[in-house]
Amino acid sequence: MHAAAICLACRTAFPSPRPCDAGPDHVVVDLTTDEGRLRLVEETWGPLARRRRLRRLIGRGATGSPPAHMDDVPTAIGPVSTLRFVASFVEAISTTIADSLTEARILLRLVRCHGARSHGLSPKGVRPLYGVAEGQPARSPLCRRPCLAYAIALSTDRAVDRDADVLWREAAAPHDFDVRLDDGRLVRVPAGPLWFEADHPTARHADVVRAHDRLPVDLRGADRDLLYVPFDEALEEVVRPGDRVVLTADLRRVEDATAIRDSPRAPAPSVVVAAAPVVLRKM
Ligand SMILES: [Zn+2]
Repeated sequence: MHAAAICLACRTAFPSPRPCDAGPDHVVVDLTTDEGRLRLVEETWGPLARRRRLRRLIGRGATGSPPAHMDDVPTAIGPVSTLRFVASFVEAISTTIADSLTEARILLRLVRCHGARSHGLSPKGVRPLYGVAEGQPARSPLCRRPCLAYAIALSTDRAVDRDADVLWREAAAPHDFDVRLDDGRLVRVPAGPLWFEADHPTARHADVVRAHDRLPVDLRGADRDLLYVPFDEALEEVVRPGDRVVLTADLRRVEDATAIRDSPRAPAPSVVVAAAPVVLRKM
């Protein structure tokens, strides 16, 4: 999926500007415009006065001076952070692109940003359906795992609120796939964006350089020192053929354009399709 829009409330990325599935309170901005990108910067880094203060902090970090505002500085770097630092350093010497990215990450460790919380389970009032995913798998974007659907979450370990650390989330089915419900019915899930979280225990940590390179070109840099998507961690979850899933969506019976008819006069075969928003969860 090539993202061109993002919801400021839940940070769900979409291929084009459209209403967020989470409701009318969620504002979606166009990332191909200067105005849309500035709205994302404001949401991530706060109002202008705070952004000025953070830019000064980044300037001090670049020259090695101690930071002036301790509320924006982590009090200690734990063993996990140290390991991450060493891992990112080793990664950095491999290419110059990785090097500049890591340098930015070291500086940004001093400043904290605002992300979104978990997306929640599903819209209220729609009955969940249980079944098994079926279909021809494609490769997932980051870990290259065979998948019928994928979810990506880019998060920060420098969130102002630790529970609101998601800066980018996207989920989609690369192609149509089916869910064989426990009552025997077959439901087709159309290709396209899904509501599917990358927080299941089977989600994998993905390469952050690959995740960075996958962001829209306009978002790979910074708005005067403040990165558009200042993530530290990339998680990817997939649904593979044979996985048990919970599907929450309105079902519609439509003509199946892909089915082969016995004769031109035979009635058009139909298929049950999950209508957007399609909420998918692994069991
Ligand atoms: Zn949203």
